[in-house]
Amino acid sequence: MHELAIAHDIMTAAIEQLETTRAERIQQIHCRIGCLAGIDIQALEFCFPFVIKGSTLEGAKLVITQEPAQGECPACKTLSEIHDFFEPCSACGHWPLQLTGGHDMLLTSIDFVLDES
Ligand SMILES: [Zn+2]
Repeated sequence: MHELAIAHDIMTAAIEQLETTRAERIQQIHCRIGCLAGIDIQALEFCFPFVIKGSTLEGAKLVITQEPAQGECPACKTLSEIHDFFEPCSACGHWPLQLTGGHDMLLTSIDFVLDES
């Protein structure tokens, strides 16, 4: 269950960001996960509230956007949107494609709540 480790990494990164601002807490954390990243999004969403419990992040919501993967054809240079590693080039049928995106996770933005006092 490496989603637990990922949730931990997200928490650590978000807390680091929080400490660089004057914000009081974090409302939402947005991240993009490529569909070939091998991350179970449901599992990640499920365990995140447990991971942040008791931390300064408690109550923050994790908003995940799934991103399709992209591959470039080494033969004809066409970029295709792919949903698994075994999808060939949409133009010429060549396989394998060179992955150009959608195989990693990115923390895209964080919504901070400012201390209004
Ligand atoms: Zn091709």
